[in-house]
Amino acid sequence: MELLDRLRAGLDRTVERLSGRFDELARTADAERTCGEAVDVDTIEVLEELLLSADVGVAATEAVVSAICDRVGQGTSLRDLVLEELRGVFDVVEPGHAVPEVILIVGVNGTGKTTTVGKLASLLKAKGRTPLVCAADTFRAAAVEQLAVWAGRAGVELVQAAEGRDPASVVFDAVTRGVDQGCDPILVDTAGRLHTRVNLMHELKKIRRVAGRALPGAPHEVWLVLDATVGQNGLVQAKEFMTAAGVTGVVLTKLDGTAKGGIAVAIANDLRLPIRYVGVGEGVDDLLPFSPDDYLEALFRKTTW
Ligand code: GDP
Repeated sequence: MELLDRLRAGLDRTVERLSGRFDELARTADAERTCGEAVDVDTIEVLEELLLSADVGVAATEAVVSAICDRVGQGTSLRDLVLEELRGVFDVVEPGHAVPEVILIVGVNGTGKTTTVGKLASLLKAKGRTPLVCAADTFRAAAVEQLAVWAGRAGVELVQAAEGRDPASVVFDAVTRGVDQGCDPILVDTAGRLHTRVNLMHELKKIRRVAGRALPGAPHEVWLVLDATVGQNGLVQAKEFMTAAGVTGVVLTKLDGTAKGGIAVAIANDLRLPIRYVGVGEGVDDLLPFSPDDYLEALFRKTTW
């Protein structure tokens, strides 16, 4: 399947909730506009309700709706206005990347970190890069085993350590080995739970420091894995990780498992972080580079006209 088709399939549940009503709304608003009438309060209210029901979030919904109220007399269709305003939320500056690039993958347990590292290793290898994966979740033997399976399947180098070993020292070994062997990127799967949340944040800070000691400038990226099915609560978790771990981007997993796939807008708007990839299933090919245009196109695809 083409990337766009897979993204569309991943958003099916959200579209099912959104699109029929959105199409109807857009049709009514455009008919009113053609007759020279302004968009009425009911239409705006329904639009607001629809965006909120898809988890676009209060802040982004309010901003979009208020911009639409300002622009509505300008002759653009309601659908185009909504898409343009939502598209603006995703604008970020794209930095180039260092070689080797060290990417820490962080987030709470069960969000899909290990799976994402595995999928990412395959995807980047297929693109001609030479990833090394590091199993730094030394508190959970199953996570190390799981990553070893992914690494074997992808045919990429793995650095792992025995259970209970200091995660930061495993990261030091992985970065040093990656540099020696000319690997790029070095993908680090971190633990999502320690005895306490404070310990976890402390550990992540230590991993950052040690990575920087092994390779000045590392980590170059810290990607927070957020589970789309957790919805707005994920944003609360995110703030904690942003402060402690210096998060630079987001991977949004399980988009296929929710009818509230509008959460990507809330993330971009509230956290001001770029979304790097989205997960649309459990298989190796189910990780897609995030494109705001494809996402919005898939989310607001016409289903009834
Ligand atoms: P971790 O604890 O953060 O490392 O999470 P795991 O990588 O172990 O993933 C937890 C569960 O989520 C596993 O059953 C994965 O197969 C599943 N999972 C991860 N990403 C996705 C996704 O994009 N879609 C779906 N449907 N499941 C996913």
